[in-house]
Amino acid sequence: MGRPNREGAAMNPPEAPPRLPSVDRLLGHDAAAALVERYGRSAVADAVRAVLAEIRAGRASLADPDVLLARAARRLVEENHPSLRPVFNLTGTVLHTNLGRAPLPPEAAQAVAAVMTGASNLEFDLARGERGERDDHVEGLICRLTGAEAAVVVNNNAAAVLLVLNALAMRREVVVSRGELVEIGGSFRVPDVMARAGCRLREVGTTNRTHLRDFEEAIHARTGLVMKVHASNYAIQGFTAQAAEADLHRLCTARGVPFAVDLGSGNLIDFAAFGLPAEPTVRAALVTSDLVTFSGDKLLGAVQCGIVAGRCDLVARVRKNPLKRALRVDKMTYAALEATLRLYLHPERLPERLPTLRLLTRARSDVAAQAERLLPTVAGIFGASAGVTVETCSSQIGSGALPIESLPSACLALVPPPAVRRRAEGAWLKRLAGALRALPVPVIGRIADGALRLDLRTLEDERGFLATLAALDPGFGS
Ligand SMILES: *Cc1c(COP(=O)(O)O)cnc(C)c1O
Repeated sequence: MGRPNREGAAMNPPEAPPRLPSVDRLLGHDAAAALVERYGRSAVADAVRAVLAEIRAGRASLADPDVLLARAARRLVEENHPSLRPVFNLTGTVLHTNLGRAPLPPEAAQAVAAVMTGASNLEFDLARGERGERDDHVEGLICRLTGAEAAVVVNNNAAAVLLVLNALAMRREVVVSRGELVEIGGSFRVPDVMARAGCRLREVGTTNRTHLRDFEEAIHARTGLVMKVHASNYAIQGFTAQAAEADLHRLCTARGVPFAVDLGSGNLIDFAAFGLPAEPTVRAALVTSDLVTFSGDKLLGAVQCGIVAGRCDLVARVRKNPLKRALRVDKMTYAALEATLRLYLHPERLPERLPTLRLLTRARSDVAAQAERLLPTVAGIFGASAGVTVETCSSQIGSGALPIESLPSACLALVPPPAVRRRAEGAWLKRLAGALRALPVPVIGRIADGALRLDLRTLEDERGFLATLAALDPGFGS
């Protein structure tokens, strides 16, 4: 019964494609009702249209409404995965900027939850029944913990630096040592921020050596500010010299010019007391400066924000600047920051209550014991598809804090099974990393020295980790 083709020869007809049901017919189908209830009619219609388009494009040939709707349902589940979600940071970098920096203490999460779904006294003075200042919720705590006279909070430390520069030195000169004209995290370059703040940069000294007399000669009537940028993500070693902050402060005071220090990672307590490398505290920096800027989500271990703390008259100028309004933070930030700062009032318990400090102070022996404990289960999950061993490694603090210091740690090292040829090992490691990123709770490790390393310093939820790992696609290696 073949239809003649162009040449007139008889051919068997191709299998006629089943007619696809219309979008409306599919939406009227029983299986669609639950989807519509859950996701809404227009989202389900969009998903159904997308599935039908895929089939028309020849990527599948299905006409059964139940099968089509099952595909639409899978699509909807994927679409409705939140984009921003938890991951396991096992990179070995504790404060990983790409992975959200500091984990908040539960006290902070509770404080955020308490204010976020309703009204709060964000800018309302409950005692007097009149308008209040949002910074009032944390200013007293910051002053108590740092010795500052006053403080303001903005969106991050980059904003804090921008605001200080603009408020104190717009159209004036800012004197900075040449060795401190650094780039922090790709998009924050000290000279660029100065330009955007409307300041003229006055570089003094050389990359490796700057002396007090360099500053003495540079300060004149058009100087708005002298600034020091703490070496946070770099270190200049060897034949180096810097003007001492105490000397700079004395010089600036004598000349009537404010002296600001951008600390970057602002720790409120001496970390050396917990066996960590020493970093200047905000309190110490304020003894020899007028104003300090620092991050809320680096060593401080709270939420993303930037804090300007110091002399009352200077902070008042910063607060009055119109940019402060543009850079201000939300009630959730104040709630998280206040709750975290309160933990600092009880420093003895801080290492157990502040996750950042808890993770940073873990001894290698503790991390190694955890690795040994997890090894049999993890090896069981991988079976023959990967080799798993416990190895020592070094964690980093991250976020530019203490760039040359590292913390002894331990990791699970995942290596290709013997069947994988040497030349294919790199590709195998990349496939494994991709499979770990595709887990229900993605696991982010680090590829180094022929292995994918999972540094366990930052692993607290062992059960959650094993549960997500159990969902690994066993075919990842091929
Ligand atoms: C990290 C850092 C910044 C930027 O801080 P953010 O909170 O990331 O905006 C600025 N200056 C220094 C010295 C830093 O270390």
